[in-house]
Amino acid sequence: MENVIIIGTGCAGYTAAVYAARANLNPLILSGNMPGGQLTTTTEVENFPGFPEGIMGPELMMRMQQQAERFGTRIEFALVTGVEKAAEGHFDIKLEDGTTKQARTVIVATGASPRHLGLPNEKSLIGHGLTSCATCDGAFYRNVPVAVIGGGDSACEEASFLTKFASKVYLIHRRDTLRASKIMADRALANPKIEPVWNSTVSEYLTDEKGEMRAVTLENLVNGEKSELEIKCVFVAIGHVPNGAFLGDLVDTDENGYILQTKGTATKTVGLFAAGDVADHVYRQAITAAGQGCAAALEAERYLADIGVH
Ligand code: NAP
Repeated sequence: MENVIIIGTGCAGYTAAVYAARANLNPLILSGNMPGGQLTTTTEVENFPGFPEGIMGPELMMRMQQQAERFGTRIEFALVTGVEKAAEGHFDIKLEDGTTKQARTVIVATGASPRHLGLPNEKSLIGHGLTSCATCDGAFYRNVPVAVIGGGDSACEEASFLTKFASKVYLIHRRDTLRASKIMADRALANPKIEPVWNSTVSEYLTDEKGEMRAVTLENLVNGEKSELEIKCVFVAIGHVPNGAFLGDLVDTDENGYILQTKGTATKTVGLFAAGDVADHVYRQAITAAGQGCAAALEAERYLADIGVH
């Protein structure tokens, strides 16, 4: 029986592991199919405190892993397919290979995956002119045109943020009205650098000879016309999919699937904690996820003390 199983190896998971390991809880991390989480898909991270010159996303995650391992965290590759709470109070964690692990407490730090359009070359373009994070990557696109896809709060927020850097921000939306809240929509549409492209979808990402984004093919959904729009980067803001479905009824979620925390990082199931993007659709930053990972470990430690594990 494990004291703490942490599911997920992003900023929240590794930070939870550092704290749990230093509290002598001997944590086990189960890493899913994207070890290191979303930061492994970005290039330079300039907003994580402590790295004034910036740090590459994959290196930051490798360092977090090393820090967790330094204090005795064990990391196993395993895809979790389900979690159940046993009558005795512990958790049974079901893995894809058919085996089950048992833990007294579980920290879910499985993150959220940005939704993409599903175009053929998008995987190879991530980090080369295709991203889902304006806060992370916006500053790399100074004085060049960029595009944001989406019509929600995220798209408007990202578009407004990007006007600090880009020469022009095209806001490409599949309808002719924004879904975003009025204040954010008004702010975006009033910005002279933002040009909405209504009733349109991106049907192709076009690359230059180095494999970097150079343009998109736009398809007008009203008249079917196709056109090419030159941009250096596409910021996809068509929502995120939190990775918590495997928890079933153990957690309550909001209408978008984000886990609802009851107090701190606690969920409705005693002994089950949630940290980072799987429970946070508001901030979604590396540092806020790390902060929640820390909180979850401290709360798991207190819960274990309450049930007599020291
Ligand atoms: P969202 O509200 O679900 O909006 C997603 C947008 O992407 C919609 O405009 C949708 O179009 C479009 N879309 C979805 N699938 C698409 C596809 N396959 N192709 C093209 N367009 C597609 O997502 P979000 O903007 O990330 O916001 C998520 C939640 O976080 C919301 O509750 C939001 O209010 C909140 N949020 C709040 C803030 C803030 O308050 N500061 C900032 C960001 C997010 P349709 O409109 O046609 O459906």
